Amino acid sequence: MTTILKSNKLQNVCYEIRGPVPERARQMEEEGQRIIKLNIGNLASFGFDAPEEVVQDMIRNLPNSAGYVDSKGLFQARKAVMHYTQSKNISDVTVDDIYIGNGASELIVMAMQGLLNDGDEVLVPMPDYPLWTAAVSLAGGTPRHYLCDEANEWYPSLEDIRSKISAKTKAIVIINPNNPTGALYPDSLLKDIIQIARENNLIIYADEIYDKVLYDGVTHTSIASLANDILFVTFNGLSKNYRACGFRAGWMFVSGNKKIAKDYIEGLNILATMRLCANVPAQYAIQTALGGYQSINDLVKPTGRLAKQRDLAYKLLTEIPGVSCVKPRAALYMFPKLDPAIYPISDDQQFILELLQEEKVLLVQGTGFNWQQPDHFRVVFLPNVDDLTDAIARIARFLENYRKR
Ligand code: PLP
Repeated sequence: MTTILKSNKLQNVCYEIRGPVPERARQMEEEGQRIIKLNIGNLASFGFDAPEEVVQDMIRNLPNSAGYVDSKGLFQARKAVMHYTQSKNISDVTVDDIYIGNGASELIVMAMQGLLNDGDEVLVPMPDYPLWTAAVSLAGGTPRHYLCDEANEWYPSLEDIRSKISAKTKAIVIINPNNPTGALYPDSLLKDIIQIARENNLIIYADEIYDKVLYDGVTHTSIASLANDILFVTFNGLSKNYRACGFRAGWMFVSGNKKIAKDYIEGLNILATMRLCANVPAQYAIQTALGGYQSINDLVKPTGRLAKQRDLAYKLLTEIPGVSCVKPRAALYMFPKLDPAIYPISDDQQFILELLQEEKVLLVQGTGFNWQQPDHFRVVFLPNVDDLTDAIARIARFLENYRKR
């Protein structure tokens, strides 16, 4: 019998967040062991419930949800997204410019499939949310990773971005607020990135899925609100801001200089049509979510559960010798550094696996986010205060033993 191989298209595609280490954790759980999971930004599994009125709306509309709807999505959902774009000062987005998808993930893959020919390059942040690198590769493109600079609040290095642009570069991806670093970019930086895109005819893909998960009273600016003369494609959804990852409700919209992108938009429309439509019940939740009471605000205010957990995780992690971290201003993550002089790690996946096996804490290694050195890991600060305290104490004990090796 001949072996059945995966397609060559998948050769450079990987997504470590759901890779071999979490698979080992799953086996350990099956054996009856309790693992503390600091590895996935899945709010519902940590007791962060979706807003009640959103859930009720879905239930109420379920009987009307059995049929296909427009490939771009329910009119009322897209209208609500359109109003959201207006509230974020993004001009000239019509219902027709909006696509509802099975989460932002589906639309990210679609947006890359619709754009790239073999060998086209896309600037992707490093560290990144690895779906972006995978989506570029799957579409036949080449991800070119630009540095986000830890010494400068994890902001993208403009110099590095410039140095990575070639004749083949089609686009730049901006993840703001950022996963995995928790950085939030200032307007001046966003304007500088726009200027680079303008000078080099680049599309800006803006992943803004955490745009309401903001701490310390900071505000988020959508990069697409800052210019009209280049093309922007912006991504968002209910997964994080509304604690509804499992509903699979996301959207993307094109804005800015749409005139130059008629052909690309036609490609997006073809791809949207091919999958007929996105999951309908969740689309009914979008209008209620966007228009209703924004309960995420209670969680991120200084006394809110998310803010308290961020503060605690930051304090406990940075107390460990040889661990440093930029304090996140947004999102659900931090990306601490292990001083290589104290922790000479050569394979960070192995390091994370040993931590799992010895201390039953699950993290994701930094290289899983296309970070080049084996000296970082990502922490999701979603577990409650007791579990976070316990997990970080275990990490500290593991690191103490590591230092003695
Ligand atoms: N973009 C970023 C930066 C994310 O962190 C995630 C999920 O963790 C996604 C997109 C995917 O979101 P969705 O659940 O809408 O597919």
